[in-house]
Amino acid sequence: MPPSILQVALPSPLRRLFDYQAPADVAPEQLQIGQRVRVPFGRRALVGVIAGLSDQSKVPSDKLKAAEALLDRAPLLPPSLWQLCLWTARYYQHGLGDTLNVALPVLLRQGEAALARQDRLWQLLPGAYPEHPAIQRAPKQKLAVQTLAQHPHGLSHALISQWGLTRDALEALESKGLVERIEQSPHHIAEPLPLLRQAPLTANDEQQAALDAILGKSGFHAWLLEGVTGSGKTEVYLQAIEQCLRSGHQALVLIPEIGLTPQTLARFQQRFSAPVVILHSGLNDRERLDAWIAARDGDAGIVIGTRSAIFTPLARPGLIIVDEEHDLSYKQQEGLRYNARDLAVYRAHLEKVAIILGSATASLESLHNVEQGRYQLLRLTQRAGNAKPPSFQCLDIRSRPLEGGLSRPLTLLIGEHLSKGNQVLVFINRRGFAPTLMCHDCGWIAECKRCDARMTVHQSPAHLHCHHCNSQRPMDKHCPKCQGSDLRPLGAGTERTEEHLNACFPDFPVLRIDRESMSRKKAMQQMMETIQSAQPCILVGTQMLAKGHHFPDVTLVAILDADGGLFSADFRGPERMAQMITQVAGRAGRAEKPGQVIIQTHMAEHPLLIELTEQGYPAIAKRELAERAVAQLPPYRFMALLRAEANNGRAANQFLEEALQQAELLVEQHQLAEVDLLGPVPSPMERRAGRFRAQLLMQAAQRSTLHQLVHLLLPLLEQHPDARKVRWSIDIDPLDM
Ligand code: ADP
Ligand code: ZN
Ligand code: ZN
Repeated sequence: MPPSILQVALPSPLRRLFDYQAPADVAPEQLQIGQRVRVPFGRRALVGVIAGLSDQSKVPSDKLKAAEALLDRAPLLPPSLWQLCLWTARYYQHGLGDTLNVALPVLLRQGEAALARQDRLWQLLPGAYPEHPAIQRAPKQKLAVQTLAQHPHGLSHALISQWGLTRDALEALESKGLVERIEQSPHHIAEPLPLLRQAPLTANDEQQAALDAILGKSGFHAWLLEGVTGSGKTEVYLQAIEQCLRSGHQALVLIPEIGLTPQTLARFQQRFSAPVVILHSGLNDRERLDAWIAARDGDAGIVIGTRSAIFTPLARPGLIIVDEEHDLSYKQQEGLRYNARDLAVYRAHLEKVAIILGSATASLESLHNVEQGRYQLLRLTQRAGNAKPPSFQCLDIRSRPLEGGLSRPLTLLIGEHLSKGNQVLVFINRRGFAPTLMCHDCGWIAECKRCDARMTVHQSPAHLHCHHCNSQRPMDKHCPKCQGSDLRPLGAGTERTEEHLNACFPDFPVLRIDRESMSRKKAMQQMMETIQSAQPCILVGTQMLAKGHHFPDVTLVAILDADGGLFSADFRGPERMAQMITQVAGRAGRAEKPGQVIIQTHMAEHPLLIELTEQGYPAIAKRELAERAVAQLPPYRFMALLRAEANNGRAANQFLEEALQQAELLVEQHQLAEVDLLGPVPSPMERRAGRFRAQLLMQAAQRSTLHQLVHLLLPLLEQHPDARKVRWSIDIDPLDM
């Protein structure tokens, strides 16, 4: 007899599977790994996925509960996606149940059938009739048979509840061989002809060389497409996708943020007549599931989404693209801390397809992979069409007064560009009106009561807001320390810069683009319309502005404060800053008009700024990589970060001290070579949202050693008596430390 004990992955933080007996009405040969089941769990019922089948369990058989229902006839995911999920759980040292919980659309997690909405019909099989002996003691099944008898052409699944039927009853009938479920997909239309709605651009020599290389190889191959901003990477993606579709395959495209790049999406939709599925946050759960099903069943030619779209199954995978591969949003920073870019490479390997990682400012990790021969480099060094690269200039603002964050010379320059009929982009990486509220009499500063952080001043409506824990409070009217009433906002954020620019340039529209302004519906669309109208205007915004936009009429990009990045304590600070400035600068002069980039700084002779403005990002990346090699930092070293936080200041530290001791023991017992354990130390912001946070860094020269250590350590931590008082997590390949 085939094994009938189910090892079920359940949505639980615990890194283990749970044993159940098969549901009473399911024969063992119907069971397969990857099917969903509904199981009793405590007082609830949970939906889980069968991750293993066995004929024995450590749980005594009288204690072993039976699953309530088998929810899928076949495994939910294609084999490659199942493998990807298993690998994700293993690599990020996360429970499989919770990993699947991240990977699957919410309705599937709740037990919804993994079938397209209109596609399911229930139909009686010959030999089914209301008096059938097998259903005389099951009134719901009897009702179902009576109802279906009135629907000779089948009853749509979407309508069963209107007829008082339940899926469970129908599925029970199905397993008794009295009812069948018809699952053909009506969307299976032949490949539309012609494939293209719009002719491709004529590729320039560099684009053609990249395409020849990519299309010349079959099977798994990882390409790093390093193309300066405006060099036509998107055109390379589009033409590679075209060939992918022509060969009858599907393409998966990951982008950092969807709401921000309507133009890019429009280019995909305008180019192809194949169905493009976009997984954006505006979809409701049902739409999301339908999109997922269209991808899995091969009905969607192109699937575009953010980070989590990496888990979308494809019936006929042909190509994966990760645009702006350096972008930090590919890394999930809580729960399952995966990096979608890295998973994409592994997925391409599993599915034996090509992957293109594109960026103007490639991550050092990817450049290192090129050095190691794992990825192959393709370069686009020239801007496409007639566009020229922008010119860079640092503007020394030492002892110059700033208004709204702008120096006088910069304000004048903005006026010049506007008067020539051009658009200007002002970049300031701080939301709100001002980063601090200060008492002019005694120097008191408004701080968050729950974090080691200052409150940001916001206007309209006026209030103080902590950007770390989201707590808000009314603006102080008097200083709580000296009772003085001269409280002043210090420094500038986007709102203040906007206000100042409005006052200076009353005749020109000033558009603010940050998380607050963009949360208003239509704001993005309005912004896009103004930008496309080509009328002179000023865009003020945070890094949202830096992401992949194409602003053809922007001729001046002003970066108001570059100094923050120069002081960063994080070893990735210089890489990040160079990426950000290069990306923002890349919005200038993307069409016929030449672009100018101004960087306001107090440290105009800082070597990093000089290097950036004179030699550009590639030179910085190369030098930084060499320095990382010497300092033995990632990507030359592998890191895992154990974080802990607790209400009690000492508990987190204590927990990590014990973790450290256990890790040291494991290193000794298992003779793990070249491992460093650093810490515990307080986290960069020790108190956040009322909790005290600390971290222990584990480093190793070999990835496998590090994984072995973490793998041995985590079960010990799960059993730790304080594991409930302390909230802890493991972050493999942390980006944020
Ligand atoms: P990137 O993605 O590298 O920033 P884009 O693909 O957005 O660059 O291209 C920048 C601009 O150049 C776009 O307006 C695009 O239409 C144009 N472009 C790209 N490739 C070509 C080409 N081969 N011929 C003419 N224009 C091109
Ligand atoms: Zn005061
Ligand atoms: Zn706070």
